[in-house]
Amino acid sequence: MDNNYNTIIIGAGPAGMEAAYRLSVFGIRTCLLEKEAETGGHLLKWDRIFPEGRKASEILGFMRKRIESGNITTITSARIDSIRKKAGNGYEAELATNEGKKTITADTILIACGFKLFNAAKKEEYGYGIYNRVITNADLENLFKTNSTGSIIGENRTPAVGFVHCVGSRDEKAGNRHCSKVCCATAVKQAMEIKEAYPQATVYCFYMDLRMFGRHYEDMYLEAQQKYGIRFIRGRVSEVSEDCNERIVAKAEDTLSGKPVKITLDMLVLMSGIACNPDSGKITGSLSIENDSDGFIKYADSIFGQVKGPGIFTAGTCTGPKTLPETINEAGEAAAVIYGYLKGNSNNF
Ligand SMILES: Cc1cc2nc3c(=O)[nH]c(=O)nc-3n(C[C@H](O)[C@H](O)[C@H](O)COP(=O)(O)OP(=O)(O)OC[C@H]3O[C@@H](n4cnc5c(N)ncnc54)[C@H](O)[C@@H]3O)c2cc1C
Ligand code: SF4
Repeated sequence: MDNNYNTIIIGAGPAGMEAAYRLSVFGIRTCLLEKEAETGGHLLKWDRIFPEGRKASEILGFMRKRIESGNITTITSARIDSIRKKAGNGYEAELATNEGKKTITADTILIACGFKLFNAAKKEEYGYGIYNRVITNADLENLFKTNSTGSIIGENRTPAVGFVHCVGSRDEKAGNRHCSKVCCATAVKQAMEIKEAYPQATVYCFYMDLRMFGRHYEDMYLEAQQKYGIRFIRGRVSEVSEDCNERIVAKAEDTLSGKPVKITLDMLVLMSGIACNPDSGKITGSLSIENDSDGFIKYADSIFGQVKGPGIFTAGTCTGPKTLPETINEAGEAAAVIYGYLKGNSNNF
């Protein structure tokens, strides 16, 4: 009896946690599965969240508190060995957990397995994994969290720092044609944080287009220019090398002035994008639902969302790049749709 649920949620990142909480409010018995040792997904890795700069740890603490309800069983370090449709209705999953093997069943499945950060080492021209001063946006979040940007920048109080947008996104060669949506805003946020930490720093953002689409994002961009003096250079970095002082030399073409630029930097930050989580392919394969050409799970309908499978639902970035508020909104909506489905309303796409 204990192993029978109304809903199994795969992934306890922001989407899975929010959906679990919403379902618990509706009185739905939920099993929240997380493959890592802790809940939180990528929120665990971020220091501050744009646009307001709220602490990710506070948001996560709030979300964790909300899932401490009797209706939610959370299993961390859970590996799904198999998941399949049962004869008749419902689903069955075989798990490997810290307490041993376990079989659980449920009426519905919510896939919330999130995304994978693009591996910047695949873009060899930027020198990630080769030069110590080349890091990713995720690495910089960790340096902010641990107050240790000095481990890369050193003692220089007037450093030059560069940000490269669209790393592994909007890039046919990298296999990702899509825009990752969150990395322009992340770059602008991180550029301002560098200026907060090093007021004398010179900070450059190398961009193709700036996609500051969200509410108050344009304000961030204006603040970055007017208050912090961040220099926005429209152009792709074409070559990165190291000089004899182990500083980074970045070459680009400023496409607005038509002139080549060569800048020596104390730190170069690559804005790695949101790529599909390869686990989602395994899960959708077992449940006979489709992935899109870019690997993200395919929506059944581009307006109403959700997937084509009776009793199978999705939330968050497993279907494509999303900001945190978008993820949380979609998770709340998925919970409402699941509640309707369990009550016999399956009038969904
Ligand atoms: C560099 C960067 C900075 C960002 N900063 C911001 C910001 O400041 N503001 C903002 O609004 N948004 C930001 N975002 C976006 C934000 O991180 C996402 O919207 C959010 O993390 C999506 O949550 P999710 O639950 O869909 O996925 P994830 O956070 O990826 O969580 C998915 C969870 O599922 C688990 N999982 C995966 N596969 C399985 C499996 N097979 N079995 C069990 N569990 C599994 C994972 O371990 C993980 O815990 C940023 C994104 C990036 C890349
Ligand atoms: S959000 Fe900006 S940096 Fe990220 S892929 Fe889109 S355009 Fe490039």
